Amino acid sequence: MKIDIMTLFPAQIEAVLGESIIGRARAAGILDIKAHNIRDYSEDKHRRVDDTPCGGGRGMLMAAPPIVNCYNAIISDLPEEVTPKVLYMSPRGKTFSQEDAKQLANEEHLIILCGHYEGIDQRAIDHLNAEEVSIGDYVLTGGELAACIITDAVGRLIPGVLPEAVCHEKESFEDDLLEYPQYTRPIDFMGMKVPDVLLSGHHANIDKWRLEQAEILTSQRRPDLYDKYFQRKSAAEEAKKRKKRRKTTTAE
Ligand code: SAM
Repeated sequence: MKIDIMTLFPAQIEAVLGESIIGRARAAGILDIKAHNIRDYSEDKHRRVDDTPCGGGRGMLMAAPPIVNCYNAIISDLPEEVTPKVLYMSPRGKTFSQEDAKQLANEEHLIILCGHYEGIDQRAIDHLNAEEVSIGDYVLTGGELAACIITDAVGRLIPGVLPEAVCHEKESFEDDLLEYPQYTRPIDFMGMKVPDVLLSGHHANIDKWRLEQAEILTSQRRPDLYDKYFQRKSAAEEAKKRKKRRKTTTAE
């Protein structure tokens, strides 16, 4: 998967995405992530990229020309039929979720635009047909951390990035549940013991215990998620009962 990140601070992107699992996936050629410095595309002799907002108001805005020039350079080598998905990191956007990460992981090429100052000239956002994405209801100084979060969440879903494909299949948010509590050695830590069932070697009981714990945790911490889970579970059980009833009637 290819991800191009347009930013005024490429070093900030590299500091995060050059390390750990994503860094290794880049080195292995599984993820092709590049940070592009928007300032390199300024036509101003002082390499300025910002200006005051029309109509007045506080702060500065990132101007459209360097952003559009940077975008044009990124897409210049692409075959005509390829249209990368463009995201603009923005507190005004839809809040990013695990479901969005899964959808984006199906894309071949993402371009992520990071804002700074008071934001970006609307015409740049419109010209790039960028979808605004927020990482939460708070305001950051720039879009770089948000771009790294999205790249990390999407990147780890790409086959080969995590050591085993199963790693993300039983995690929080799968099936609208949060993950159950996990334990490792030592078995007794300061008098706190690992639950017996996890040491029993009985896989069916372990699965049952984990599901119960996930349900309890989700209902306590995220009642909104739990409602979704419960409705889906009830509908699935009802469908199963109907199928069983139909089978019995046909047999008679
Ligand atoms: N004036 C803007 C507003 O009120 O919506 C906020 C601008 S913010 C100081 C500068 C940049 O940080 C934004 O252009 C955006 O790229 C990024 N940013 C800030 N908060 C964000 C969030 N919650 N999610 C994603 N990006 C964010």
